[in-house]
Amino acid sequence: MDPKLCAVSVDLDPLSAYYAIHGLGEPPPQVLHTIVRCALPRFAELFAAAGVRATFFIVGQDLEQSPELGRALAELAAAGHEIANHSYSHSYALNQLSPEAIAHELGRAHELLAEAVGAEHAPVGFRSPGYFVNGAVMAALVALGYRYDSSMFPSPPYYLAKAAVMLGMSLRGRRSAAVLSDPRALLAPPDPYRPSIEEPWRQGSAPLIELPIAVLPGLRVPAIGTLLTVSPAWLRRGLLQGMARRPLFNLELHGIDLADAVSDSIPTELAGRQPDLRVPHAEKQRILLETLRELQRDRELLTLREAATRFSA
Ligand SMILES: [Zn+2]
Repeated sequence: MDPKLCAVSVDLDPLSAYYAIHGLGEPPPQVLHTIVRCALPRFAELFAAAGVRATFFIVGQDLEQSPELGRALAELAAAGHEIANHSYSHSYALNQLSPEAIAHELGRAHELLAEAVGAEHAPVGFRSPGYFVNGAVMAALVALGYRYDSSMFPSPPYYLAKAAVMLGMSLRGRRSAAVLSDPRALLAPPDPYRPSIEEPWRQGSAPLIELPIAVLPGLRVPAIGTLLTVSPAWLRRGLLQGMARRPLFNLELHGIDLADAVSDSIPTELAGRQPDLRVPHAEKQRILLETLRELQRDRELLTLREAATRFSA
């Protein structure tokens, strides 16, 4: 039997994305580069310690705003990590854009990333901000010649929790930039599949592979990094055991997972709403290293690009 696989990815969302989700308006200038300057080097260190090559999903616009990001990505690519496309502006309202505007969001990010890392390491995969995919996104990915999409997150508990938070905020008169994705995506297969271009939550014959983000069998509880870093050890073990039968553990982490309020001087207005920022980054780094070593015991770790090749065969 083929070995079970695990692909670790990091969505390098800037802190401004969290200000938008929590309806906090424009972030103060001192936090604009926190994730690139503080959290990204910690991920490089974590993966080097574990001997893991990962996939980094990058927001194109950040390359224009952080001059040092391009160099950092070129170094990561040279070390064997994969650099992938996380849209140009990280708009949570991607689903309200025209097909032309969606193609621009994906195409512009692709150009900026390819310029930063060189043609040899240019992106071949995409993850949507807010886990949203539709026919226009799929068509844009096909036009770019991409090999995979990894935006499906078929988790009803995550969807309901997000809807409850958004409702609570609107009752208190605050507006979140978050948008609920098409609920039909909740029915998507939880294991890698070849999607339909028009209805990507169904099986079809698109020339690329869908690699859904990890959810447990049964209720489809999400098995993502932020949950791992804030859970007690017994719950972490349960999450890993629950994933045991999945052929691919597509483990999604975020840049914020290796940031913390104290070391990185993140204002209380945000840290008060993100409990994970109150856990010291060294503690989260230790938990993630332990988790990666556990996963390496019975899975082969690879990038999402390599996983796409395996599942295309
Ligand atoms: Zn994101």
